[in-house]
Amino acid sequence: AGSGAAESLSLSVIGTGYLGATHAVCMAMLGHRVVGIDVDGEKIRSLASGQLPFYEPGLNKLLRRMLGSGRLSFTTDYSAASGADIHFLCVGTPQEPDSPAADLRYLNAALALLAPHLHSDCLVVGKSTVPVGTAQGLTAYLHRNAPAGTHAELAWNPEFLREGHAVEDTLHPDRLVFGAATERARTLLAACYAPIIADGVPVVVTDLATSELVKAAANSYLATKISYINAMAEICEATGADVNQLAAALSYDNRIGGRFLKPGLGFGGGCLPKDIRAFTHRAKELGVGQAVGFLQEVDAINQRRRQRTVDLITEMACGDLTGVHVAVLGAAFKPDSDDIRDAPALDVARMLHQAGAKVTVYDPKAMDNARRSYPELTYAGTLEAAVSGAEIVALLTEWDLFRRADPTTLGALVRLRNIVDGRHALDAEAYRAAGWDYRALGTPNQL
Ligand code: NAD
Repeated sequence: AGSGAAESLSLSVIGTGYLGATHAVCMAMLGHRVVGIDVDGEKIRSLASGQLPFYEPGLNKLLRRMLGSGRLSFTTDYSAASGADIHFLCVGTPQEPDSPAADLRYLNAALALLAPHLHSDCLVVGKSTVPVGTAQGLTAYLHRNAPAGTHAELAWNPEFLREGHAVEDTLHPDRLVFGAATERARTLLAACYAPIIADGVPVVVTDLATSELVKAAANSYLATKISYINAMAEICEATGADVNQLAAALSYDNRIGGRFLKPGLGFGGGCLPKDIRAFTHRAKELGVGQAVGFLQEVDAINQRRRQRTVDLITEMACGDLTGVHVAVLGAAFKPDSDDIRDAPALDVARMLHQAGAKVTVYDPKAMDNARRSYPELTYAGTLEAAVSGAEIVALLTEWDLFRRADPTTLGALVRLRNIVDGRHALDAEAYRAAGWDYRALGTPNQL
């Protein structure tokens, strides 16, 4: 993909966060003319000046290259969207503050701002993750509010990119899903993704509701797989069995597979937790809550990992964390990202701090975000500074930098060689050989 589109389209991308900024840059890579629009003026200024406002490997370089090509621009002015063939809606759909439901206010606001700028033949395409039925409601809104005589149409094209692999996932996705009611919508989407489709990427063309459901179902499945192995870890903890060996043995079964079967501190981020909650809520609204009742269990298992990690660290501190210096390695919800939304690492750091521990956090990319959201924690400028004088080291986000660290070198910096591996990311034997008390949930704590 990326080697020139058969047809160059004019696109607008509404909402230029993790998803939208990536989408805008990658669509320009395909040869389209793209304007990115956001209500956050600071974000737009940053993007327009070639500075990605978040960390995503490889994306900043491509942003600059595409700005240089003249095919990509950014603005807060919605009128710049007029004339586009396709408008991609990429705004946030976070969890509502006091309910498990998805908060659709940004999506509604974006469509209201966009509607006056629509012209006859354009297509509005939702990419945000939404409760099933949302697109139908937005279609009705569009028909009521687009300028008279406009036949603007709505389609849905859910996004499956992973932060940390966003560019690769956008240009070489596992599949494309088009929820499109008319031939015109399908043709336009196919033209937009032509170079990707030409690479042989499967396209599932379906109705709006199914396309919305694909995303909810996919994230529910992934969350379930993680919580499944973490539930097995709980059983292992009660029996002295080893969840790593269990996972390895399971993974050889092709029907199960090893991906997302990694035990540890569990999932977080701006997607999986809120998506399974929104899905559960929506299913209840539809009167079929029982069908996905298990997702509440998936969520509960996942939340328990955080407390159990705190419990394990407390156990290492002989039951009392007061004044204990804990070095927390990792803040982002996963490696290769600076995203700290619902980050398990920071949740654990916060709980340790509340229990009286002296917590020092280090993350290669998420420090600014973490500082802003958790000013009560102490931050170190390097891995070495974070572990200096520590009585317990807790690896909570499995950055490569932490995996590669040498146990002997680290051992010389700490006050006590105690380590909790919240991600099963380290070589337990190497740490034990270097004199560490190494512990991980779901594995026997050999001393
Ligand atoms: P984000 O918070 O990084 O970005 C959302 C952006 O929308 C922000 O920049 C915000 O300023 C902007 N916005 C809000 N209201 C607006 C308006 N009225 N007009 C224009 N812009 C507006 O969120 P994100 O992670 O990019 O997620 C966006 C959507 O994509 C969500 O529905 C999410 O579930 C879905 N998604 C995200 C990922 C991911 O990995 N981040 C992957 C797949 C799907």
